[in-house]
Amino acid sequence: MGIDPPRRGPCPSGPVGITGRVRPGIKVQDGCDSRCAYCIVWKARGPSRSLGLDEVVARVRDASAQGAGEVVLTGINLGRYDVPLGGGRAGLARLVDAVLERTDVGRVRLSSVEPLDVTPELLGVMSASDGRVAPFLHLPLQSGCDATLARMGRPYDSGGYRSVAEAAREALPALALACDVMVGFPGEDEGEFSSSHGFCREMAFARMHVFRYSPRPGTVAAAASGQVAPAEKAARGERMRSLSREMRASYLSGLVGRTERVCVESPGRATTGGLAEALVDERLPVGGLSDVLVRAVGRDGLLDARPPLSASGDITAGDGAGHHNR
Ligand code: SF4
Repeated sequence: MGIDPPRRGPCPSGPVGITGRVRPGIKVQDGCDSRCAYCIVWKARGPSRSLGLDEVVARVRDASAQGAGEVVLTGINLGRYDVPLGGGRAGLARLVDAVLERTDVGRVRLSSVEPLDVTPELLGVMSASDGRVAPFLHLPLQSGCDATLARMGRPYDSGGYRSVAEAAREALPALALACDVMVGFPGEDEGEFSSSHGFCREMAFARMHVFRYSPRPGTVAAAASGQVAPAEKAARGERMRSLSREMRASYLSGLVGRTERVCVESPGRATTGGLAEALVDERLPVGGLSDVLVRAVGRDGLLDARPPLSASGDITAGDGAGHHNR
């Protein structure tokens, strides 16, 4: 498999904003064995298959040697990573463990993982990594209403999703939880939408990607009755996006006063483990990982993690944040 950029949309593979050399994506899995009612990707991409563990390790080493501070493991259905290994099988947890053990990459990030693929083993590897796996999970939700989820053919209900989120937060106290959510799926009435909206609020997402349902020819949902009018979809999309902005602001303000490990993407600009953008000391080396103190959130949601200026205008040392390059 080649290294493709992740796709945007309610299906695959992670709106995690990979950026070229410093935070490259490494596609380790392709295809999908699920059959979500709105999705055409499984037809287009075929069954799930995975890149060999040694090959992934080699690609991560290459990326690291070329200046990557962080690598993003991507796939159409990343949680279904599965390869033979020593008479048994290796899944995503074993893969992440191997990348941590056998490479010196500063940080590993997972793109989208389906909720039911977040196993105790995966959480254990993330938790034991001491921040080398970004404390970030993008778990596609699609709806917080059980009736809608059932019509979508999603393999969990809101209670199942909640359990996964709670386990993840317990294992990773600094976790930034992100999701995709769809509005206007066929048959979604105001009551179903309200349930979904209420559940999203309860989950306190750090990021939420909101999509309006759009029919894909050849899917079950495209032929379903109860298609939602475009104006109604737009209105629900705006209500959901408003909630998304509110939760994002709350997440970002909770970072103020905390030390965050950032990956420096360009002089003075960096990305936190939870995928927030930050202004940092321009002298920090690009491609390095640094611990910085978050001082404020700008109006545009950009974190200010620059060291304070001294009276002379110089940047003061010893402000409680340091940096360590891998
Ligand atoms: S899990 Fe569902 S939405 Fe995602 S690629 Fe597979 S069929 Fe499509």
